[in-house]
Formats: sequence, C-alpha cells, structure tokens
Amino acid sequence: MSWESNVRKVVPYTPGEQPKIKNIIKLNTNENPYPPAPAVAERLKSMDVSDFRKYPDPTCSVLVDAIADYYKVDKKNVFVGVGSDDVLAMAFMTFFNSDKPVLFPDITYSFYDVWAELFRIPYRQIPLKEDFSIDTEDYLTENGGIVIANPNAPTGVELERDSVEKIIAMNPDSVVIVDEAYIDFGGHSVIDLIDKYDNLLVVQTFSKSRSMAGMRIGYAFGCEKLIKYMSDVKFSFNSYTMNMPALELGALAVADKEYFEKTRDKVVATRERAKVSLRELGFEFADSKTNFIFAKHPNKPGKEIFDELRKRDIIVRRWDIDRIKEYLRISIGTDEEMDKLVAALKEIIGA
Ligand SMILES: *Cc1c(COP(=O)(O)O)cnc(C)c1O
Repeated sequence: MSWESNVRKVVPYTPGEQPKIKNIIKLNTNENPYPPAPAVAERLKSMDVSDFRKYPDPTCSVLVDAIADYYKVDKKNVFVGVGSDDVLAMAFMTFFNSDKPVLFPDITYSFYDVWAELFRIPYRQIPLKEDFSIDTEDYLTENGGIVIANPNAPTGVELERDSVEKIIAMNPDSVVIVDEAYIDFGGHSVIDLIDKYDNLLVVQTFSKSRSMAGMRIGYAFGCEKLIKYMSDVKFSFNSYTMNMPALELGALAVADKEYFEKTRDKVVATRERAKVSLRELGFEFADSKTNFIFAKHPNKPGKEIFDELRKRDIIVRRWDIDRIKEYLRISIGTDEEMDKLVAALKEIIGA
C-alpha cells in the first residue's frame, strides 16, 4: 500500500482511564471531586437549544472577557481553547519553528513530546535532579523554546517563582511556555510577568481547580503580539474551537470567586491530611503543591500496589517509565474517598 509511506505516523498520548463502572474511587486523572460553581447548573437548565443552530462566537468574547476581568488583564492578553491541551498544541505550532531543540524536563506532562513529534519539532528532555527539582542552569543553553509545567506533573513539585523568572529572562530569543495547570493549589503564578517579558506564555485550565474537565476549557496569557500570533494560527486551523455552552458556562464559573476559593481550600486541606496519613504508612514523596501526591513505598513495588488498589475499585495512575515506575500518582478526592484509599493502602502494605 503505497499511500502508507505518506502517512503522518505518530505514537499518541495515553490519557488516564475513564472507567464505565459506577462506585469506583477514581483518583487517576486529577479531576476535582466537587461540582462546578452553582451558576453553571442553573444556566445549563435554562439554555435554549435552538441557539445551537447557529455557530458560536469565533472570538469567544464572553469567556475571554470573564477571564480578563478575573485576572485583571486586558482581553488582548487572553487566548482560549478546548482545554489547555488545545491551547498548548496551538502554542507549540505557533512558537516552536526553529531548528534548535525545544527544552523540557525528562519527567513532566507526557503530552509535550507527543506534540513535538506530531509537529516535527526537535526537542531535548532535560533530566530533573534526583529530588525531581529543576536546575535552572540546564535551561541556559541554546534552544528553540522552553516548556515548564509549574508545579510539575506528575511530580507535584513547584519551581520557585524567582527560578521561573530566571529561565524566562535568560531566554529572550525563545518563547517560554509555563503550564500552570495546577497553580491554584498552592503554587505562585507568573501571570503578572507577561507585561515584563514578551516571550512568556502562561497556560491554565478549568479542568482541575474549576471542576470542569468535561467542558474542555483552557486559556493562556501573553503579551498582545504573542496572543495575536496564536490567534492567527487558531483561525487558520478551526475558527470555532469553543462551543456555545463552554463559552457561557465557563464565563459563569470563573466569575464565582467565592465558590472557587471554598472548593480549592477543601482540596488543599484534604491533600495535607492525605500527606500525613501516607507518611504514617511509610510512603515517600516530594512535597506536593497540586491536587495529587506522587508517592512510592520502600517495601512494595508500585505495580503491585497499583494492582491491589484496582482490585479494590480504587484507580490511581502509574507509568512504566524507568525513573518513576515505583511511583503512584494519587489524585486528591473527597476526605471520604481519601480515607478509603488510606484504609486500602494500609491493608496492602500490611501496616
Ligand atoms: C491536566 C493537564 C493539562 C491539560 O488539561 P486540559 O484538561 O486539557 O485543560 C495540561 N497540562 C498539565 C500539566 C496537566 O496536568
């Protein structure tokens, strides 16, 4: 079959499992255990489906305006997309067109190398230090761009703000993408630096801290020029990325600061409780500033714990990658779910 030699062959990203079984304790994809802001449910009930005849607003203005208001930036500094995966993919396509390699850590969000392969962008994965921290010096080498998830996934480790700024400042000729998917759970954002550095793109999402993974809403902040370039690529690819409900419901969700802070604080409190319990069972982990904990146990292989949890209808995430194969990434659920997890682990570890 000669056409096969002209196929763009790629190894796709593997998303976490979305099981159909009910009553499972699902701690594998860092979803929020709480529902979205109450206004979302209300508005959804009153939506007029006959509006769906029409195309949605290609400029996504209700959502862009709501995000700009909340973060106190100009709407010209905001880009929105179908989850931050879409935003990141657009950013890779827009900004990484050099022959020099794009740099990102060896252990990080496993979609970065997939996009690099898809778009045929040269890249180099830089090993994290033994404790999973980033050595900023490693990013002072020639490159065609930089991507840093901060706090990092799946490690949960935060790179301090000054170090993030140093990487941005030392690379004025490259776009630096800071993926802040988990920033709301205790990290320190660099959004305010978009006025200071024209090479900075900050990417965030509604999927974790705003409880709307199913709606697919992501967004980015950058200087006006950066956003304009991304927007040009978007309009060369698909004018109508965001659907009507996502635009309206996203705008309502971002406007409810009180609900957001309340649920975020609950997740953070549960995480801190879980850290104590896991430590008591002998688990080892770097301090997490996210809605998950990346932990291993000195006496039990990661695979075994994973399988035993699964038998008890508790799903966490694990990767068959040498450096991290003993680790489990455990998303933070409700207090009740975490208590069940800890009870199961206790049994498995034999503590
Ligand atoms: C979850 C996640 C994303 C993607 O989230 P979307 O649901 O596409 O918004 C991006 N980056 C990191 C590091 C993530 O963990």
